Amino acid sequence: MPLYKCFNCGKEVKKEYVKRKVRCPYCGGRIIYKPRTVETIVKAE
Ligand SMILES: [Zn+2]
Repeated sequence: MPLYKCFNCGKEVKKEYVKRKVRCPYCGGRIIYKPRTVETIVKAE
């Protein structure tokens, strides 16, 4: 199960959230990244 992390607050973000909206449900951060795989950075807009 791929987990993402919020770049802003560092909390784990489920993939479902990233699918709907690239936004951290905790702090509203728009930069979500995959831990260890830094290449896969999903950015909103
Ligand atoms: Zn966050």
